[in-house]
Amino acid sequence: LPTSASDYLSDLNAQQREAVEYGVGTPAASPALLVIAGAGSGKTNTLAHRVAHLVLNGADPHRILLLTFSRRAAVEMERRVGRVLQKVLKLRSGVAPSLQWAGTFHGVGARLLREYAGRIGLAESFTIHDRGDSEDMIGIVRHELGFSSAQTRFPLKGTCLAIYSRVVNSQAPLSHVLQTAFPWCSAWEAQLKQLFDAYVQAKQDQHVLDYDDLLLYWAEMMTDPGLAAEVGGSFDHVLVDEYQDTNRLQAAILLAMKPTGQGLTVVGDDAQSIYSFRAATIRNILDFPGQFAEPAHVVTLERNYRSTQPILDASNAVIQQSTERYAKQLWTDRASSQRPLLVTVTDDAGQARWIADKVLENREAGVKLTSQAVLFRTSSHSAMLELELTRRNIPFVKFGGLKFLEASHIKDVLSVLRWAQNPRGRLSGFRVAQLIPGIGPVSAGRVLDAMASAPDPLAAMQAFQPGSAAQEDWRAFSQTYEMIAGAGASWPADLELAIQWYTPHLERLHEDAAVRRGDLDQLARIAATYPSREKFLTELTLDPPDATSAESGAPLQDEDYMILSTIHSAKGQEWKVVYVLNVVDGCIPSDMSTGTKEDIEEERRLLYVAMTRAKEQLQLIVPQRFYVTQQTGMGDRHIYGSRTRFIPDSLLKLFERMPKPPQPAGLAERGLTPEAAKIDIASRLRGAWK
Ligand code: ATP
Ligand code: MG
Repeated sequence: LPTSASDYLSDLNAQQREAVEYGVGTPAASPALLVIAGAGSGKTNTLAHRVAHLVLNGADPHRILLLTFSRRAAVEMERRVGRVLQKVLKLRSGVAPSLQWAGTFHGVGARLLREYAGRIGLAESFTIHDRGDSEDMIGIVRHELGFSSAQTRFPLKGTCLAIYSRVVNSQAPLSHVLQTAFPWCSAWEAQLKQLFDAYVQAKQDQHVLDYDDLLLYWAEMMTDPGLAAEVGGSFDHVLVDEYQDTNRLQAAILLAMKPTGQGLTVVGDDAQSIYSFRAATIRNILDFPGQFAEPAHVVTLERNYRSTQPILDASNAVIQQSTERYAKQLWTDRASSQRPLLVTVTDDAGQARWIADKVLENREAGVKLTSQAVLFRTSSHSAMLELELTRRNIPFVKFGGLKFLEASHIKDVLSVLRWAQNPRGRLSGFRVAQLIPGIGPVSAGRVLDAMASAPDPLAAMQAFQPGSAAQEDWRAFSQTYEMIAGAGASWPADLELAIQWYTPHLERLHEDAAVRRGDLDQLARIAATYPSREKFLTELTLDPPDATSAESGAPLQDEDYMILSTIHSAKGQEWKVVYVLNVVDGCIPSDMSTGTKEDIEEERRLLYVAMTRAKEQLQLIVPQRFYVTQQTGMGDRHIYGSRTRFIPDSLLKLFERMPKPPQPAGLAERGLTPEAAKIDIASRLRGAWK
């Protein structure tokens, strides 16, 4: 190794370096590694360096599994690893190898399940349902069981799916989940059991897996000792970022992959655990060291490289009121005289105006839009701001928002592809068949039944005779279907075929067909970047592209645009300037979460995550009028907002308040002489006697 080649390690502090180099020379004698540390201490950065260091010391990049929280995080991590490798390998005049296995648990699970489908009795062509599809499917099953009548007030399909998902991910009994998280549904326990049984059966019959199944099947596969050894053995190193937000199933999968802990690295921060509504459990990270025969090696990082001291002070103060965390000391040498701002505005509109003003001011001062982000609790909270930004021509991209893929015309076209991929997929079949005029739910059901039981689904489709009004269109569709599903199909020409077939229906169904046609073109452009239909459908379902602002137009690659994101989706990221919307009680903590102490603690961590995204400037906005809608089956409720309980008066000194809190004004400022003031008071007192 040329001497300067290991310079990449000299950028790291001693603890980071320890984590990067741990066990590299002696893998067989090294228990698992846990890096537990606060926000911005370089956990992700350290993980990237560790991967690069492993590769530079001979590890095969094809046998490294890197699990991140989002696809975006995986791409970013690969970029960081690549940068280190490039720097070193340039000196050795080699080409940086790329990682083959970097992604989310769900994405990696989907890939492994296709690979091992034959071994575990799964159809290789299984369809993956996103949350919307799963809701629809559970809704259909619920209807078929007769649970959906308005009088019975049976939980809505979204609630049913949420309960199901919670049961599956927490591996807790239904009764427990109902009691603790959905008490208003407890009366329906027996029916819910029946519903879930039927839902599981429907998925099996139709070769469908939902998000939860990707983890469930993977975990189940790993309970077979032979398969576990095979899957686990195909990776020398498994590394996980944001471990605090994994659930029991994910922990079980990791343990099955690396039962001794050797080759396993996890990093995380218990103070940033914010996904318990998806059954993530903070216990995973706290219990990690003790779950192996030889306890894991623990490294803690204490220096924060991200934020200025005043931002760190305020964030630390917010999280330190919490009782249930690993005590951590964070320090930084990034001094600044600017305290975080606590801005009071009248309402939503005032909030939007304030932010738009400050964004432009910051841009004038040289802070690019891409270095500024607005964070909020719930996607819908940014609506007013989106209007304001659009009005002022400030381009933005929204993360974690309503997905492009949820639009009905996009779903229609994707359903054609999915149905062709999996002829037994009833949800997509049902949707597509009914696009044809003259085909309603009854005929659609008939053709799907025929296709489900026939040895050759395509022949069954072609033999189907709908009512005379629909026959012509049905024949045309069958031909398109055959071309897409058939052996000669090529990608992405299939998508073009589907769009061509769909276009007359689009024009018939939607007044704004031209706009929607633009979306389909966009879909085709996205599709062209995927190597195959299968990969396209899988990844699109698991990791939809971020929604963009339709009115201002999707920003071009090199255009400057700002980020709007839910706090949940902002995990792990950082910006120079961060604005947080609606820092009021009823929002953070959200009104629905005022239930248990644990829920409140999670909301506190959420605020901590939001605050610690800021590098140089942090602005928390407090609208005086904030309306919440409560949807716990009890109807809506509106409240007036007041500053979040997580910033009590005792912490105000850590913030700069805007507008300045009114000082008791002196007489001179009020334009009064002492004499006039006396008269003023006296007259008021006189009035009180009347
Ligand atoms: P989070 O908890 O929010 O996920 P993290 O602990 O993963 O944060 P990183 O995102 O890895 O932190 O790092 C935060 C910032 O600090 C990044 O900009 C990173 O480049 C920088 N950083 C990390 N380590 C060092 C270092 N040794 N020297 C200089 N900068 C560093
Ligand atoms: Mg990180």
